[in-house]
Amino acid sequence: MKAMVYRGPYRVRIEEKDIPAIEHPNDAIVRVTRAAICGSDLHLYHGMMPDTRVGTTFGHEFIGVVEAVGPSVANLQVGDRVMVPFNVYCGSCWFCARGLYSNCHNVNPNATAVGGIYGYSHTCGGYDGGQAEYVRVPFADVGPMVIPEWLDDEDALMLTDALPTGYFGAQLGDITEGDTVVVFGAGPIGLFAAKSSWLMGAGRVIVVDHLENRLAKAREFAHAETFHFGEYDDIVVALKKATDHLGADVAIDAVGAEADGNLTQHITAAKFKLQGGSPIALNWAIDSVRKGGNVSVMGAYGPMFSAVKFGDAMNKGLTLRMNQCPVKRQWPRLLEHIRAGYIKPSEIITHRLPLDDIAEGYHMFSAKLDGCIKPVIVPSAA
Ligand SMILES: [Zn+2]
Ligand SMILES: [Zn+2]
Repeated sequence: MKAMVYRGPYRVRIEEKDIPAIEHPNDAIVRVTRAAICGSDLHLYHGMMPDTRVGTTFGHEFIGVVEAVGPSVANLQVGDRVMVPFNVYCGSCWFCARGLYSNCHNVNPNATAVGGIYGYSHTCGGYDGGQAEYVRVPFADVGPMVIPEWLDDEDALMLTDALPTGYFGAQLGDITEGDTVVVFGAGPIGLFAAKSSWLMGAGRVIVVDHLENRLAKAREFAHAETFHFGEYDDIVVALKKATDHLGADVAIDAVGAEADGNLTQHITAAKFKLQGGSPIALNWAIDSVRKGGNVSVMGAYGPMFSAVKFGDAMNKGLTLRMNQCPVKRQWPRLLEHIRAGYIKPSEIITHRLPLDDIAEGYHMFSAKLDGCIKPVIVPSAA
């Protein structure tokens, strides 16, 4: 089969690999019909994620058709159209029993924090991902779900990470009626977090970014007010002025470790690896929320960080909440919202590329060329 293969920082290509086989009775093999490139795949692509091994296949956002099932698989049949959460999880450990699927204790021998994630380095379990024609899905009775007939493929694809993560970000912000919510980052997660904030009763939703096409999308798709941080000396002061000088009730960091916007930090962090990236968006979130407010972190961060304004967060009495999204927990409510017409998730997709062109896809997305917000990969066998 054809699969995307990592060859080192900024180098990915299509290679021929063996079609994965059933390795455990509860495995399924899925023929991928759509996969997406995620902003967090760019951390891998940029060589920011520890233990990203040459030869591995990325891709934690994919849907497809069940091609084979192991003998103990009871919930799926060959031919089923399925969506697969980005989390690999057992469904039965102490953490899974409490809905903390992203912190499963059984799927990742290399880490005590994060569980398993498809195509996301050996730090996250070393599972090959779905930017390929086929993918092995472990715990096939636990994660995947047959896609309801009324749901489009590309809407289902957005349910494998981007939409549930954005929604989860708003949920962790504990938004109450009339709250002002500031979302940092107008990529897919930020757009969905902004959209979800309205569904949770926000009175005002503000999105901050520096890419004009993304801010336009935030206005049109998420009906948010927008701030271009490059147009202000200090975006925190601008946000304070816009919120009665008190600050927003809730701030959502939908940027993560590779924030633009502070050159010094970017150099010490990203270039010299003094920490796992730059926490500039997180610090803006801490600074721009009001005292006693909530900060929700959905952006991806590596393990080590310094220069986070932790003392300010403490002294302001903030509540900080964060996790990798336990995707399947969000599905019942999100399926209701999609069916009711409140969200059309595929509206954020900007590009569709054949699997053969995935190297161009990564380059375009990484360099933010051609207004790329969400690229979708279509395998040739789809
Ligand atoms: Zn993702
Ligand atoms: Zn588990």
